[in-house]
Amino acid sequence: MNDLNKEDIEIKWKMLIWRMMVVICSITFVISWILFGSYRIEKLSSGLYILKYIVLPAVVQAVALVVGYYFIKSGTKDEKKQSYIVTAMMFVSFGIIAFIYYSISPLILIPCVTIVATALFADQGLTIWSGVAVLVLMTINIIRYRLSVGTDQFQLGWFGSLSVSIVFVVLMIAVVVVINKHTKALMNSIAGSYNRQVTLMSELMIDPMTGLYNRRSFEESLDKEIENVEETGAKSYVTIFDIDHFKEVNDTYGHSNGDIVIKALCKMMKEKSKDMGLAFRYGGEEFVILFHDTELSKVMNVVEDIRTEFRCYYFHFMNKDGITCSCGVAEYVMGESSKAWFNRADSALYKAKEGGRNRTVISE
Ligand code: GH3
Ligand code: MG
Ligand code: MG
Repeated sequence: MNDLNKEDIEIKWKMLIWRMMVVICSITFVISWILFGSYRIEKLSSGLYILKYIVLPAVVQAVALVVGYYFIKSGTKDEKKQSYIVTAMMFVSFGIIAFIYYSISPLILIPCVTIVATALFADQGLTIWSGVAVLVLMTINIIRYRLSVGTDQFQLGWFGSLSVSIVFVVLMIAVVVVINKHTKALMNSIAGSYNRQVTLMSELMIDPMTGLYNRRSFEESLDKEIENVEETGAKSYVTIFDIDHFKEVNDTYGHSNGDIVIKALCKMMKEKSKDMGLAFRYGGEEFVILFHDTELSKVMNVVEDIRTEFRCYYFHFMNKDGITCSCGVAEYVMGESSKAWFNRADSALYKAKEGGRNRTVISE
């Protein structure tokens, strides 16, 4: 996961572009001298050629790079302004190459449009292949022009034009690759913070020991359930489970064995209620299942199934009868508050305890 924040990423990728531009301009400078050695421009003296085709572009590029560096490193903190300046720097650096060397200026539009357009999809493979296609297209075009119009149309001749084209396309691809990497880093960063948020949210809602939803989550769910029932008229039930004489279990078998008992009951509650409602850990050894849009008989089937299975559950640390639990059930009555609904289920649980435990009582 990428832990850089958005601002760090912005600065990082702008500096990457800047370094790349330095490489581009250095390569251009070297190529300018190679072209000067390879071609004779009869209309111009050597001095004028060097000034126009080598010194002037290098100076313009150097100024653009210095201005760009200043703004990235120590200039404005305004992100948008910075992006405009970096883009302007790229335009000047590329533009000077195109302006000075290209005799067939419309050709320059082909790599620009195709490659930059593919960058929109942030697909490196597509960018490289379209770059290769552009190169082939430009080579064909240059040969075609040479055959039909004649060499005097070319300031640099076919080899010179082709060399500049190749450098131009390769460098455009490099720019797009950097842009793609930046986009991916940004996406990872966004996905990372989203995942962290989701994890935090679920940690807030879930009890770590049992994996059941916690009391806070129960209270929210109860309010939502009331809204839903009031709207649809569906039947919903709160059922509270409490382990019988659990203090004795702790005292006799130890707290960690007590935890094993709690986890066993929670696992049963979760599994057996999953198609009909949600299970919550309300307190230490008190649990709730909120049954949504169902019938009392179905609720009782699940509740009694849990209670019976729990009673019969074999715990390795015990050699006497199993542990039991009691349960209180209350159906929602239209118009009542969440507190009143819950209290009726709690009173039913209290009656179950009073009545001898290991039983379920339904609130009237
Ligand atoms: P009753 O049948 O009336 O419910 O009696 P009880 O002993 O179950 O009820 P009481 O409220 O007296 O005791 C509950 C005990 O549950 C006390 C507390 O230490 C224990 N307990 C609460 N949370 C946990 C837990 O996470 N793990 C363990 N092992 N014990 C817990
Ligand atoms: Mg209790
Ligand atoms: Mg208890």
